[in-house]
Amino acid sequence: MKTSKFRFSDKNKLKRDSYYNAVLNAIPDAILVSNTEGIITLANLQSSLLLGYALDELIGSPIDLLLPSRFRPDHRGMRERFLKDPSIKMMGAKRNVVVLHKDNRELDVEIKLGFIEKDHQISVVSALRDVSEQRKVEKALRSSETRFRLMANSSPSMIWITDIQGRPVFVNNTWLEFTGIPDSQAYTLEAWQTAIHPDDKQAIYDVYRTAIDAEDYITTEYRLKRKDGNWRWILDNGIPFHNEHDVFCGYIGSAIDITERKQLEAELAVAAAAFESHEAMVITDANTVILRVNKNFAEITGYSPEELVGRKMNLFKSDRHSNDFYALMWKSIHERGSWQGEIWDKRKNGEVYLKWLTITAIKNANNEIVNYVGAHIDITERKKAQEEIERLAFYDPLTGLPNRRLLIDRLKHALASSHRTRAMGALMFIDMDNFKTLNDTLGHDMGDALLIQVSERLQSCVRDCDTVARLGGDEFVVMLESLDNESQNAVRQAESVGDKILDKLNQNYQLGIHHYHSTPSIGITLFRGKEEAAEVILKQADIAMYQAKASGRNAIRFFNPKMQAIVSKRFALEEDLHQALAKDEFKLYYQLQVTNNKIIGAEALIRWEHPQRGLVPPTDFIPLAEETGLIIAIGQWVLETACLQIKRWENKPLMDHLQLAVNISAKQFRQLDFVDNVSSIIARTQIKAPRLKLELTESLLLDDIEEIIEKMNALRELGVHFSMDDFGTGYSSLSYLTKLPLHQMKIDQSFIRNIGMKPSDAAIVQTIINMSKNLGIEIIAEGVETKDQKEFLEKHGCPVYQGYLFSKPIPIEEFEAHWLFSNKI
Ligand code: C2E
Ligand code: MG
Ligand code: MG
Repeated sequence: MKTSKFRFSDKNKLKRDSYYNAVLNAIPDAILVSNTEGIITLANLQSSLLLGYALDELIGSPIDLLLPSRFRPDHRGMRERFLKDPSIKMMGAKRNVVVLHKDNRELDVEIKLGFIEKDHQISVVSALRDVSEQRKVEKALRSSETRFRLMANSSPSMIWITDIQGRPVFVNNTWLEFTGIPDSQAYTLEAWQTAIHPDDKQAIYDVYRTAIDAEDYITTEYRLKRKDGNWRWILDNGIPFHNEHDVFCGYIGSAIDITERKQLEAELAVAAAAFESHEAMVITDANTVILRVNKNFAEITGYSPEELVGRKMNLFKSDRHSNDFYALMWKSIHERGSWQGEIWDKRKNGEVYLKWLTITAIKNANNEIVNYVGAHIDITERKKAQEEIERLAFYDPLTGLPNRRLLIDRLKHALASSHRTRAMGALMFIDMDNFKTLNDTLGHDMGDALLIQVSERLQSCVRDCDTVARLGGDEFVVMLESLDNESQNAVRQAESVGDKILDKLNQNYQLGIHHYHSTPSIGITLFRGKEEAAEVILKQADIAMYQAKASGRNAIRFFNPKMQAIVSKRFALEEDLHQALAKDEFKLYYQLQVTNNKIIGAEALIRWEHPQRGLVPPTDFIPLAEETGLIIAIGQWVLETACLQIKRWENKPLMDHLQLAVNISAKQFRQLDFVDNVSSIIARTQIKAPRLKLELTESLLLDDIEEIIEKMNALRELGVHFSMDDFGTGYSSLSYLTKLPLHQMKIDQSFIRNIGMKPSDAAIVQTIINMSKNLGIEIIAEGVETKDQKEFLEKHGCPVYQGYLFSKPIPIEEFEAHWLFSNKI
């Protein structure tokens, strides 16, 4: 029974086994069943295939065998925990574990556990699925992703990926670095949008929208805000990408900063515009073959640009220059990199023209010349204008005679040639007597008419080789050359020409409807010598002319050695005067002004502390300074020094009321910027303007009176005071006087000196005082030397004095000591 049962059951069992086996082996997973001792009791074919063991090797072996040794203790512990408390839920879930192949390879498997309870015995069923391949693919994917990130992040370009809405799903570090947007905020559309320049936004959105709709490539240029807040130009390129099913997923793109390129483009545009500028421009290669010309170049040369490109620059060469000229030009270009100068070139029609050319060599990084750039302007017209200017510069426009410059030039030549030939020459200085009266009475037109006739008469008196020049005003010069070698004979020759001139100029003139008679004063000097003497010779003739005037006019005087002494001294003084300011040789002296025994101020009087001559009085050098124009700089120095002194007084208690009078020469006052100058000195020194009193003389009033009044008013507005110096000596009309914004009149010392000696002068003093009272102008007397003079003045109503009676002009230290004494401080 047992047997049959066994058989039966065996049979059944066999049947059952083959049934199970077929099922087991059909399962794609490896199935292993183990008992509570961890011994494998069942295994299917897949297990054998997966793990490399034969089935009977597996069955009966501990399941540990299939684990790498490092996992075995854990596995044992787990099994023990499970046996103690089978309710532990560890079944069902899939887990990834590593198992050991027979050949010791480790396999990644996915495991799912189940259990069977039979006859109180618990068996564990493990279903293993090989996932090694899947893991490999995943790993490969992971590493490809890592590689992509590495690559993207190491790129100098900004790399980005967006979805189809344009939302960033990836941006690389370069992008984050550039925009300064933190990684946490980078993945929104807004983050990118806020960084775009407001003016560029709309255009970019349009480009993106059209591109997305068409799944097309994107290329845009726009300004993006860099982390530092600066707008940078960006070139952004996007490529659409698709998944494996060819579905459009978004864009992958890269962007670069092209700001520099943009700037370069802008500069190039400027350069291109500049190339088409007024100047004619040409660019050649290193062999002077023309590469490019601008419109102007083509126009000036007469060729079309097409005709010129490819030709060599020697196309324009004229025959006006020697080979040496060109050799020197190229030498300069090669040595200094450029050349500039006038050059005669030939136009297409053969016409030769003058141009101002600049050639510059352009070198490459290896310092080799690669191009030449030539720029030129046609200066034929300019040259003509220059000649005209020269003509104007050398000739007197009214009479057409040579002017002072040309005369000096010719005189130099004449001197040099007289030095060689020993033949003497003569220079005559001719001044028309009373010319000013003619101008004042008949007007400037008649004056001009006279000058023209005088010039014609002078020319008729001399030979062709002689020169007649007009220096200005009514001053003419005649230069005679090639006279006798003997000075006695030369004097006679010159005298006879002089007489002829005197006679001719004495004849009546017809000026419009007027018959007019005029006379000249003529000064003559003889010369033979060196070029350098030209100015001296002219001065000699000038001095001789003054002698002629002094002798009663309408006369001729020759220059003599006594006059020479005066001239030499003057010249020496003039030389020194040029240096005096720079050498700090001027000093201001102060002469006090008094009223009621109180010092109310001073007059600043300049002194020249000459290292050899000692103290030079202003009368010796002021006229010279006026003649040479040096008075402007000297006057400026006086004004500044005086204002600084006023400021010092202002800063001292009890002295801040002192007023300082400064002498202003007429020439200085007539300077266009005189008012500005005074006002800027006042501003600079920060003085109270009424502390400054400007002393003017009547000689100033000879000129345009309206302009003078205007200037005085402007200065008076500032608060500056005016005093009319040396009053009574001039010829100013009284009606002018009432128009001037004067504060004070200063009676000239010549009248004061004669008080008590010359009744007419005493009467003049009284008249001036009365007049000042009527005009409401303050009065001061200068040159007060005696008590009698002071008393006379006081009695007749002049209470303010300046003169040796009180003090001579003295240095500032002495002046201040005087002031302290008189105030008994
Ligand atoms: P001024 O402006 O009429 O000055 C008065 C002159 O009379 C001064 O001569 C002064 O020393 C002199 N003086 C004053 N009191 C007496 C006196 O009681 N008796 C005598 N005999 N003379 C007296 P100074 O300093 O030689 O100046 C001469 C002229 O030089 C001045 O005449 C003025 O026209 C000119 N000057 C002086 N300093 C300057 C200056 O800084 N700029 C300009 N442009 N001219 C100046
Ligand atoms: Mg004065
Ligand atoms: Mg005076």
